[in-house]
Amino acid sequence: LSAVEQDVIDEIDEKGIDFLRLQFTDILGTVKNVSVPATQAEKAFTEGIYFDGSSIDGFVRIQESDMRLKPDPETFAVLPWRTREGDEGGAARLICDVINTSTGEPFEGDPRRVLKDALERAADMGYEVNAAPEPEFFLFEEDEDGRATTKTNDAGGYFDLAPKDLAQDVRRDIIYGLEDMGFEIEASHHEVAEGQHEINFEYDDALTTADNVGTFRTVVRAIAAQHDLHATFMPKPIPKINGSGMHTHISLFTEDGENAFHDGDDEFDLSEEAKQFTAGILEHAPAIAAVTNPTVNSYKRLVPGYEAPVYVAWSDRNRSALIRKPAARVPAASRIEARFPDPSCNPYLAFAALIHAGLDGIEEGMECPDPVRENIYEFDEAKREEHGIGTLPSNLGEAVDALETDEVVQDALGEHVTEKFIQAKTEEYDEFRIDVSQWELDRYLEKF
Ligand code: GLN
Ligand code: MG
Ligand code: MG
Repeated sequence: LSAVEQDVIDEIDEKGIDFLRLQFTDILGTVKNVSVPATQAEKAFTEGIYFDGSSIDGFVRIQESDMRLKPDPETFAVLPWRTREGDEGGAARLICDVINTSTGEPFEGDPRRVLKDALERAADMGYEVNAAPEPEFFLFEEDEDGRATTKTNDAGGYFDLAPKDLAQDVRRDIIYGLEDMGFEIEASHHEVAEGQHEINFEYDDALTTADNVGTFRTVVRAIAAQHDLHATFMPKPIPKINGSGMHTHISLFTEDGENAFHDGDDEFDLSEEAKQFTAGILEHAPAIAAVTNPTVNSYKRLVPGYEAPVYVAWSDRNRSALIRKPAARVPAASRIEARFPDPSCNPYLAFAALIHAGLDGIEEGMECPDPVRENIYEFDEAKREEHGIGTLPSNLGEAVDALETDEVVQDALGEHVTEKFIQAKTEEYDEFRIDVSQWELDRYLEKF
């Protein structure tokens, strides 16, 4: 056992942990877990835990279904809401890499592997990638059967305080839960829409951050449920009010700890690399959207008027752009904010797509367009054309089409994930396309 692995074993003993949840994610971003008695910890580290990969979305066919989980000891965390009453015992989780048992190599369909590949490419170019997401979510009441409704439990608005912000206690408990699991919380506030919230946590290297997004969603849902509320990361649960985004802040650091995105002499405080990285994301945005905005519902959020981007442009001021350059107080904080991702994405794949597109921008020395400082929602087509501003796909079908012709984003995902992802998303979109919605019935049933 390595020193870190031994530390985990000691902590399991000290804290009287009974069960270990070994976690990984499928290609759709759902956190899966296998629970093993904590007595298996040593074996999990030395031999791994075998499971049947054929029942996981986007993994493998029955014939080749044996997979092995290799726990990453750095990700050990006690699950605060699983603690047994009256003592310290309970459950802990470990995030795992997935190993293909027939080759003994990392499984190419493991989203965590896909992100590690992106980070390796960055490292080869001399960079470490930092990322910080801002996941937004709604808290809804449950009905008598414990099923989620879309009834909010408060009517607060942006940065409102109690008593309007009834969710304050829930949010506080969520924050305690996150802190217990090692999160450093920067801020939390009521978001713009009623029932909508945001909790920000400290940036970290992109892999840790992607791990954190999965943990974050799990903790928020678990603690909301303790308050008889349903937390949802669905991008647009209610029409005509703001949806939920997952703005993602990214910066590259050099090996000696300098922020490669900072240039004090630049008007925007952005280095040439930062601009090329931005250009790369803008160039590949339609295909990236298939990954960062991967549901039918994602595209109901990406419409004008609700602080979500629609047009492919960047800005140092306004929030209607796809990428924003936030004000930075210190050089280390220079970064770009991708505003199109939403919290229904698989964070590993989403970060991998953004990073590869950005690195491609650097490698190709791409030219970054000028920032757009006006409200792009108010531009007409002629004005957009004049500024050379494209649009994001308007539905999942178009996004998948864009992915099908974008080799950079396909390479980011790798062959296996690209194939499974396109297959799953095409099916999802086709199912939606042939469905007849309530809106259509309301509009046409009696009229025709
Ligand atoms: N909810 C908005 C979105 O969909 C963002 C609002 C904000 O953070 N100011 O991206
Ligand atoms: Mg927000
Ligand atoms: Mg933001």
